[in-house]
Amino acid sequence: MQEVILVKLGEIVLKGLNRRVFEDRLLKNIRRRISRAGNFDVYSSQSTVYIVPKDEDADIDEAEERVAKVFGIIGYTRACVCEKDMDTILKTAPEYLGDILADVSTFKVESKRADKKFALDSMQISREVGGALLRANPHLSVDVHNPQMVVRVEIREKGAYIHGETKPGAGGIPVGTGGKAAILISGGLDSPVAAWMMARRGVELTAIHFASPPYTSERAHEKVVSLLKKVGEYAGRMEMVTIPFTKIQEEIRDNCPEELATVLMRRFMMRAAERVAREYDCSALITGESLGQVASQTIQAIACTDAAAEMPVFRPLIGTDKAEIVAVARRIDTYDISIEPYEDCCTVFTPRHPRTRPTLNIVEAAEKNLDVEALLEDCLKNVEVRKI
Ligand code: ATP
Ligand code: MG
Repeated sequence: MQEVILVKLGEIVLKGLNRRVFEDRLLKNIRRRISRAGNFDVYSSQSTVYIVPKDEDADIDEAEERVAKVFGIIGYTRACVCEKDMDTILKTAPEYLGDILADVSTFKVESKRADKKFALDSMQISREVGGALLRANPHLSVDVHNPQMVVRVEIREKGAYIHGETKPGAGGIPVGTGGKAAILISGGLDSPVAAWMMARRGVELTAIHFASPPYTSERAHEKVVSLLKKVGEYAGRMEMVTIPFTKIQEEIRDNCPEELATVLMRRFMMRAAERVAREYDCSALITGESLGQVASQTIQAIACTDAAAEMPVFRPLIGTDKAEIVAVARRIDTYDISIEPYEDCCTVFTPRHPRTRPTLNIVEAAEKNLDVEALLEDCLKNVEVRKI
């Protein structure tokens, strides 16, 4: 009895002429991601991706865990493959499904016959397999309308596949099919979620973090690295660029009106991030802002921030509530890391009364007190890059 993983493609199937590109990318991403679990054959046929262990050492449990985090997959299931022969199927199904069926009391069988040469039709297959499962599990009964579990039998090209429920996949489209963008990542709750959301739309990420030592600590930096590793389980490999921000923040503090400090700082972040983003072939910036959450996230403040950037700035959380953001953070396992109490450069120099409705001309006037270009060049000379 051989066990495999069957993967159902998500939105990719709607892609028409581009479908090949999306599918190839998905296969490549799956192969790369599960390579740590051992040797597997990964191929697609008729809208299903097959993941087949090549040897004894291939760890299918680990492969399944990893597949659950690959974008572009709407659902997946473990399945058992056997010969396309009714006697074998009737013997294999109760053997393979025994443990899973022990926990349910009602079930039904649904069958699909992709191979039309197979002697029985799908109704007949379902009936016979249902009978075999009932004989082997006397506690079960069949419920065609509301079963606790649906057993599926699929007669395909290379054999018969038997499996239980399909689990939901990570959704989205394959990373790498949506271009590249830079995520401005802090140690907070929001930006890791924003990163995950954009990666789910196929975007390959580069991470940019601003650090203000000695006001922010090495521990705070490590926290961001931990968050990115969690995001990377879905988004794949990425580079993290850390930009030293202390000098800029001190200059703003010493030379500009306090109530504008936050918006001025954010404009510097956009400019510096954009330059790094270009270097890494990114064509957009991503932030974790959500409308109205804090003083710098009003429409007016965002307008002033955006005016400093030429690239599009994506804010996937703009219309979400904190509770929704928390739900995603828990799902992707960043929540517990995010709530660790470390300082961020944003919180270090927070003005007592930030201006919630800045206007661009007031902000630009305040900026005249600074040598913007020199400050940018200076901080970009000392960036630190690391692989996640
Ligand atoms: P988060 O929970 O992501 O920290 P927040 O609600 O605390 O967001 P701010 O601190 O105002 O909001 O930051 C808004 C956005 O600016 C963040 O979501 C992030 O994209 C970016 N940002 C904030 N601090 C940093 C930083 N130190 N380095 C890089 N980007 C940052
Ligand atoms: Mg923050």
